Amino acid sequence: MTDVIVVGAGAGGLVAAWQLAHDGARVLVLDAWKWAGGLLGRAEVAGLSLDVGAEGYSVRGGAVAQLLADIDAGDLIERPEPGGAWLQTATGAHPIPKGLYFGLPADPTAADVRAVVGDVPAAQAPQGATMADWARAAYGQRVVDDLVTPLVGGVYSTTPEEVRLADLAPTTAALVEAGTPLREAVARSVAPPPPGGAVNGIRGGMHALVDRLVSATTPGSVEVRCGQPVSRVERTSGGWQVTTPAGTERAPLLVIALPLDAAAALLGGPAPEAQPAALDVITLVLDDDLTDAPRGTGVLVAANVPGVAAKALTHSTAKWGWLRAAAGGREVLRLSYGRRGLAPVTSVLKPAELTALVRADAAALLGRPISEPLEIRRTGWRTLPPGTPGVAASRDWLTARAGDDLALVGAGIAGVGLAAVVPHARAEAARLLRKQEKQ
Ligand SMILES: Cc1cc2nc3c(=O)[nH]c(=O)nc-3n(C[C@H](O)[C@H](O)[C@H](O)COP(=O)(O)OP(=O)(O)OC[C@H]3O[C@@H](n4cnc5c(N)ncnc54)[C@H](O)[C@@H]3O)c2cc1C
Repeated sequence: MTDVIVVGAGAGGLVAAWQLAHDGARVLVLDAWKWAGGLLGRAEVAGLSLDVGAEGYSVRGGAVAQLLADIDAGDLIERPEPGGAWLQTATGAHPIPKGLYFGLPADPTAADVRAVVGDVPAAQAPQGATMADWARAAYGQRVVDDLVTPLVGGVYSTTPEEVRLADLAPTTAALVEAGTPLREAVARSVAPPPPGGAVNGIRGGMHALVDRLVSATTPGSVEVRCGQPVSRVERTSGGWQVTTPAGTERAPLLVIALPLDAAAALLGGPAPEAQPAALDVITLVLDDDLTDAPRGTGVLVAANVPGVAAKALTHSTAKWGWLRAAAGGREVLRLSYGRRGLAPVTSVLKPAELTALVRADAAALLGRPISEPLEIRRTGWRTLPPGTPGVAASRDWLTARAGDDLALVGAGIAGVGLAAVVPHARAEAARLLRKQEKQ
């Protein structure tokens, strides 16, 4: 008999399933897609098993490292190579300045900031409510274009024109609300990077977590069924009934681990009043020699850089030592396309056009020609990034549905990224079983 049904086998659903099984429950996980993992996507490119979704995790809070230790995978933790990342602006390529907070400089007079944006004008009174309005008033338009746009777009798939400061940085926004000038609030908010860096990865790729989470449970305690889109969930006298094309499943407890729009559709809540952002990740394996890592671990692209359509490039073989070793002398690059509000140009191109565009962008960003790829792979994603206007009502409605027999986990509720999703899913899974034990 199943104790808990988990709908959705992304990071949130799989972590919840592992925690539930660890705490003694029998768990059935149902996912619509052909394989588990969700945004922990994987693709086989030129014989290499590569991440095409998440490719690292923030060390913030230590929750992901703790999970890896708890599933006996702590030895898989990898630090990125030390090269650091770069920024491409309309005026050239620069190492990303230190001391940025969502692209806002803690010290606008620092030499590395001035190398990118020149002299920052005196702060003005803000006109408007978006993050771009506030940043423009405090630091000028060049900071918005060359620092805030690439940092916010590269990491959160949104633009400063579309979010308020409070959507991404609520504590800083509260300081500003209380009368602290933005520059001062940023200087107080920025934290030195943790020793060893802010981001780590997993040897073999972040997608390795998918199998590790399932194999770390007692055999038979977690069953993952893919290709099973859940079309209906209903409360019954004994708990929940869940409908898929294959029939119905029943269990006393339910975990919904879906993107916000899918969760709202299943539970009958208000749909987010926002369109998901479309994003293309293009992965290429090359026979070139880029071992000197001309742009460190990669490049974020500022707004309005002529001749470059990509918004970011990761030089994966320069970033991850394990991948450099696995690639056997080849190079792996990953470019992302699609700024919010615009379909990624790559989604409508024929294969030859796609290859030409990506080669041209990679060459422009790395500052040298790129050969014909051994293989190129396009992966399309649709996500509702944090701070997307119109998602708050849906998220709040869903959060209020959580109860003794229902938990909601995943990035839509917890916030984007594994550092947010992992501890929240574990806590919600543990809460669900604790409540059950008390009854
Ligand atoms: C390109 C990209 C790069 C990223 N890079 C990083 C990174 O480097 N580090 C980081 O920490 N985070 C990164 N993220 C974010 C991170 O991947 C996500 O926050 C996290 O993986 C979300 O997990 P989730 O379980 O909430 O959702 P998802 O992974 O979206 O999982 C939801 C699952 O629900 C399934 N589903 C949907 N509808 C139904 C239905 N009706 N029935 C059954 N199943 C259904 C889907 O198939 C999917 O498997 C990245 C995201 C993207 C898109």
